[in-house]
Amino acid sequence: MTEDFIYLSLSELIDGFKTKQFSVSEVVKSLINRCEKFKPLNVYITECFENALKKAADSDQRYANGNNLPLDGAPLGIKDLFCTKDILTTSGSHILYNFVPPYESTVTSNLLNNGAIFVGKTNMDEFAMGSSNKTSYFGPVINPWKSKNSDKDLVPGGSSGGSASAVAAHLCYGALGSDTGGSVRQPASFCGIVGLKPTYGRCSRYGMIAFASSLDQAGTMTKTVEDSAILLKAIAGYDDRDATSSKEAVPDYASFIGKSLKGLRIGIPAEYKEKVASKDIEMLWERGINVLREAGCEIKEVSLPHTKYALPAYYIIAPAEASSNLARFDGIRFGYQGEGETLQEIYENSRDVFGKEVRRRIMIGTYVLSSGHFDDHYIKAKKIQRLILNDFLNAYNDVDAILTPTAPSGAFAIDEEITDPVQMYLNDVFTVTVNLAGIPAISVPFGYTNDGLPLGLQVISKHFREDLLFQIGAKLESDSGFKSWKE
Ligand code: GLN
Repeated sequence: MTEDFIYLSLSELIDGFKTKQFSVSEVVKSLINRCEKFKPLNVYITECFENALKKAADSDQRYANGNNLPLDGAPLGIKDLFCTKDILTTSGSHILYNFVPPYESTVTSNLLNNGAIFVGKTNMDEFAMGSSNKTSYFGPVINPWKSKNSDKDLVPGGSSGGSASAVAAHLCYGALGSDTGGSVRQPASFCGIVGLKPTYGRCSRYGMIAFASSLDQAGTMTKTVEDSAILLKAIAGYDDRDATSSKEAVPDYASFIGKSLKGLRIGIPAEYKEKVASKDIEMLWERGINVLREAGCEIKEVSLPHTKYALPAYYIIAPAEASSNLARFDGIRFGYQGEGETLQEIYENSRDVFGKEVRRRIMIGTYVLSSGHFDDHYIKAKKIQRLILNDFLNAYNDVDAILTPTAPSGAFAIDEEITDPVQMYLNDVFTVTVNLAGIPAISVPFGYTNDGLPLGLQVISKHFREDLLFQIGAKLESDSGFKSWKE
């Protein structure tokens, strides 16, 4: 029976600490051994084992003294774009290969203040741009799941692929990701875990390396819906260092788990149906609808007519903001510095280390912001963004939440050559609308592809109604019949 704690959820683990079934040090030690064993998955860019052991001893002390904190001893993975004081933070990029932040991001600092322990900084697509985790300077991450009829390594999804794979393979008990267009929810779906993208402004972005500032939001990746509620409570809240963070009160999210769904109105967007191209996803969705109907929800068709413009608008707005945000990486003040005789040469040789996808976004972004094209592209995309938000607000006159698939497919093979970038962008077809509207959504593992790979369902709600996501998500979870990955 030893080490059975490996497969526990975060909330079960914390209960075990409280009831002294095992110590934090014992759990952290065994987790470190497990990380060594699963090293080929490449989930961590930086391992924080030494520090984790030290913190574990402190946590054990607090449990012994009875002054333990809400997340005391919780071993977590942190996506490598959250600045962590004195710990290397790369954003998956060569240009930050040596960047050690002198300060802590607000969300990670909230976790530390709650007693959490960082196992490591998780691998990710470079600057969070991607859907496969193949654009990381530190190499691809491998999904622990395998298809029934092939031994090929699969992608974990992206850009928070390291966090997703680490949680799925039980190499931490929860993780932080970031979601700009789907980067928490799509990898959660690919790896069979829960992924939450909170309302824009729910969590502070201070100390989070920016991709597209108006869309970026920290999110949680966990084994269960309850764990997601617990972690959100810890990281959410107002921060005077982020002008876009909200003063809206932070409820006790976990208290909504298990609450009856009777009378809730659930919307099924007609335009998303048109985008479902596979039988297994169609059936998954149908089954989810039935679970909610049987739980007493009223199911209604809704229309989100501007959905088809969401991806094109996203791929203008996100690169525009990225081109501006990434201008700060000049090789002068921090990060990689290229050689050169002149300042221009140093800039060029420093920025020369950006990967292909990052360059593509910088070029698109610079182009759409240039004076001749600004009105035609950027302004038009911002107008579409408003229409997409209006679509949701209209739908919410009739329904409380919306149910959709999370991603158009299950995980694909790492060696699958995707040469057309637009094909990769299509991974976010069901998720980007949510970022453009600034509303929250959760992906809950609900079933499998024909090949036995995980598939998630997405619940979307109104601004600051994460409580509904946990309430509905927990019901879907308990009726899913889904089994987490185990070796
Ligand atoms: N896959 C999307 C992109 O490449 C979303 C990324 C994200 O959410 N960080 O931009």
